[in-house]
Amino acid sequence: MNAVKTKKIKTIKIDVDKCNGCRACEVICSAMHAEPRYSSNNPARSRVRVIRDPLADIYIPVYAGEYTAAECTGRDRYVIDGKVYDECAFCRASCPSRGFFKEPDSGLPLKCDMCESDPTLKEPMCVQWCLTDALTYEEREEPVDDAIEPEDVDVGLEALANKYGWQQVVDSMSRLAKKD
Ligand code: SF4
Ligand code: SF4
Repeated sequence: MNAVKTKKIKTIKIDVDKCNGCRACEVICSAMHAEPRYSSNNPARSRVRVIRDPLADIYIPVYAGEYTAAECTGRDRYVIDGKVYDECAFCRASCPSRGFFKEPDSGLPLKCDMCESDPTLKEPMCVQWCLTDALTYEEREEPVDDAIEPEDVDVGLEALANKYGWQQVVDSMSRLAKKD
């Protein structure tokens, strides 16, 4: 019987009730990713940002997610304890329509990489530096489906077409088919 393939899923759980808005996570993230490592810190370079509303005692860490080439058309409006938040406030994307999660000098997108490093860290730095335990790190194994889904093929073909043009993709596929 074939062993089930698994992949490691890394998660940082956020308990907003424990966050006190100290921003230590922002500082250490930017230092961890400085060149050379730990040579400087600048929260504008952090891959986590803490939404702070001290008068309402609301602090919410938001992690940098995927880059998106264009702003989305949907918007989510949040009301927490009567305060209305900007429609994009909790979005994790590095998006052209706002300045969050962009490297200040180059404008390149920033994304949380879970502090990938060699040797591997026991826990991401923001978790280690969060003294209130608002951030906790978890790992789990999840089964991987090896089968290629049709949508995966569509996305792959579209990416190739964007780069080389459909005609070249079609010609290449025809040549490959003739080899069989
Ligand atoms: S280090 Fe922890 S307590 Fe401080 S802002 Fe970040 S998540 Fe909140
Ligand atoms: S896990 Fe690492 S890369 Fe991600 S926000 Fe925390 S310190 Fe930054």
